[in-house]
Amino acid sequence: MDKLIMTPGPTYIRENVRVALSQEITNPDLDLDFYEFYKETCNKLQTLLKTKNNILILSGEGILGLEAACASLVEKGDKVLCIENGIYGEGFGDFCKIYGGEVTYFHDDRRKGLDYDKLENFLQENHDFKIATLVHCETPSGITNSISDICKLLNKYGIISIVDAVSSIAGEEINIDEWKIDVVIGGSQKCLSAPPGLTFLSISKRAQDAMNNRKTPVQGFYTNLSIWKNWYEEKWFPYTQPISDIYALTQAIDNVLDDNNIIKRHTLFANAVRGALINSGLELFPNDHFSNTVTTVLVPSGIEYKDIFNKLIKEHNIIIAGGFDFLQDKIFRIGHMGENCYEDKLYLTLKALNTVLKELNFELKADLHQEFVKLLP
Ligand SMILES: *Cc1c(COP(=O)(O)O)cnc(C)c1O
Repeated sequence: MDKLIMTPGPTYIRENVRVALSQEITNPDLDLDFYEFYKETCNKLQTLLKTKNNILILSGEGILGLEAACASLVEKGDKVLCIENGIYGEGFGDFCKIYGGEVTYFHDDRRKGLDYDKLENFLQENHDFKIATLVHCETPSGITNSISDICKLLNKYGIISIVDAVSSIAGEEINIDEWKIDVVIGGSQKCLSAPPGLTFLSISKRAQDAMNNRKTPVQGFYTNLSIWKNWYEEKWFPYTQPISDIYALTQAIDNVLDDNNIIKRHTLFANAVRGALINSGLELFPNDHFSNTVTTVLVPSGIEYKDIFNKLIKEHNIIIAGGFDFLQDKIFRIGHMGENCYEDKLYLTLKALNTVLKELNFELKADLHQEFVKLLP
């Protein structure tokens, strides 16, 4: 068997996506059919994200989407609220500062989901912000924030919301129009299970207007979302499109749209993975708002993360992820995203982890893989 990559992205890629990736290409600048194909892919993303907002697909990993949103919307002196309860959330503030934003942080508990009431109280006193940034699923800590109410609240105050949903799209419920989210950023390599290399953004009219009404030009070209204006009407791309990656992404979106139970499947397996870990005596990092797409487990005392990682890969051919920043060596993470979110892969992972933890002298209260199976309906 090939290596099983059970990390929170990149994920396993289904065969029909790999076939799509290897299709014959055309000249994406000159072949008008490709403009239709690109547009259709954007329409499919609109369906997936439940929005009528404009969609762009950019050639670059999720980080490009985050930076492009900040570069295009934040101007020198703009007041930005960085709402954070984790590493990606806090990092958003750094991007805004690069582009001259005056960043105020709303820090929240890193083991819990963002506290709506606390944020509401904060906003009552301070709401003079042009933009607010937040993360849907904090992949490094395995927490999914309830963004529906928060984004509606930001909208009520006229604040443009920018949401990093890279690791949640297709694994968690998201409804951009109903939740009134201005900018949402996704990536190809998480729950969509396409190869790494693409990011996409959904941009509301209000966010588009803010870009059009900037006082100063965007400091950048590749990160300037305004250069895409009228690409379809004028049949013009700002640069040659990564056509093979887009073929693969389109097939991956079709796979997701064909799977009516995809969110339910993520919820079900995420529950079973967490339950198995808890029943076996391990402790999760989050206290609430557990992610549907990644589970974060504290490394038991007396055991080193690197030993778990090394044994899993060397003896079982399975890759899991660790922690970084304040979670370095303190946690390990199992991704259950997209094509990785199936019983066989998770069973093998938990069975191997069970063996490894026993060999490292951790006293399991029950067998991980058996608990997992028991928790499935
Ligand atoms: C994966 C991910 C990104 C993209 O980051 P990489 O480290 O380059 O993979 C951005 N935001 C979130 C929340 C992610 O999970």
